[in-house]
Amino acid sequence: MTALYLPSLVRIGGGALNELPAALKQAGLSAPFIITDAFMAQSGSLDRVKGLLAEAGFSSGAFPNAVPDPTVASVEAALAALKQGDYDCVIGLGGGSPIDTAKMVAVLARHGGTPSRLKVPHVQDDVGLPIIAIPTTAGTGSEATRVTVITDEKTDEKMLCAGYAYLPHIAIVDYELTLTMPRRLTADTGLDALTHALEAYVSRLASPFTDALALAAMKRIWHALPVACEEPSSREARAQVMQGAFEAGMAFSNASVALVHGMSRPIGAHFHVAHGLSNAMLLPEITAWSITGAEARYATCARVMGIVPDNMDDASACKALVAALRERNRALDVPTPRSYGLEESRWNDLLPLMAEQALASGSPANNPRVPAHA
Ligand code: NAD
Repeated sequence: MTALYLPSLVRIGGGALNELPAALKQAGLSAPFIITDAFMAQSGSLDRVKGLLAEAGFSSGAFPNAVPDPTVASVEAALAALKQGDYDCVIGLGGGSPIDTAKMVAVLARHGGTPSRLKVPHVQDDVGLPIIAIPTTAGTGSEATRVTVITDEKTDEKMLCAGYAYLPHIAIVDYELTLTMPRRLTADTGLDALTHALEAYVSRLASPFTDALALAAMKRIWHALPVACEEPSSREARAQVMQGAFEAGMAFSNASVALVHGMSRPIGAHFHVAHGLSNAMLLPEITAWSITGAEARYATCARVMGIVPDNMDDASACKALVAALRERNRALDVPTPRSYGLEESRWNDLLPLMAEQALASGSPANNPRVPAHA
């Protein structure tokens, strides 16, 4: 038996944002509260969304101060702003950070509590306000997932919070919103999506349904991401990476991520490395370490992405996969932890705590090769 959790209403493709009012009407919603960040407010995207809603006769409110890697304080500020009005749903407009903020606010608005009481192993299935996700990066897949990641700024812990309540009811997946992403952000977020696809495919919780999504996603992203980075106005490349990120989100939300994400969250939280970048830094080495746990699956990834011919044996295909991931990192200027400048003495001091936090998130247990306590 496989249980599947997917957004109920999806509009995907160039111009999908214009469908937001129609999707809200279909869902019986009429008073959205928009959570977004300063860039979206300054670039005119927030005004565009408000305009679309006003034209359709909806009243809306907004909180434009979501922060990257959302903190407990930023969630509390957004929640306080929502409580000033009478809203029936929450829109997350932006990258993974505003969307994750919106998810947590939607749950706290109805149930109260604090993010730290909701982190895993707690599972939040009791829904809050309906969530509408409008991603403007092509990476996290948060528009399709049952998780949100909130940072406890007092302990520098990136808390994974999971459950059906965090699954968006509506996802508006419009690649045109990603055309403004600069090269570094395009690369980091795209590599995050590639990591989701690979980890979902080799996860111990993979199913035939998630396999299909993960393989389609990795093929799409592998070919289109370099083009999106070097030719940022390529609509075709942007569309492919956006669709791949969405597919990868659906795949990992139903199959889990694994060791790369487990280790990446503490690195991101303690050293303030962008989420996609910390995943990308780890992906080749953790893939190399994990191959013995799922050699045939990693070999399939290499074949599907066109890294090796279909008739190559598994061991050689896996070797080529790791080499190609390393080469892709070089081509997209992904630093190693050392060349990024992570302070070595602090790194050594924090290692035991980061290992504990990684294992506690549950993700490493789904890796094909499971790390153990030393
Ligand atoms: P982000 O939302 O933190 O945004 C990074 C920066 O990019 C911000 O300054 C933002 O204003 C800017 N930006 C966003 N869209 C832009 C655009 N179209 N053009 C130009 N600039 C733009 O970045 P992200 O990588 O999308 O999200 C990272 C967060 O998502 C992390 O907190 C991570 O833990 C979380 N995450 C969540 C899930 C999930 O399923 N819930 C999955 C993976 C990651």
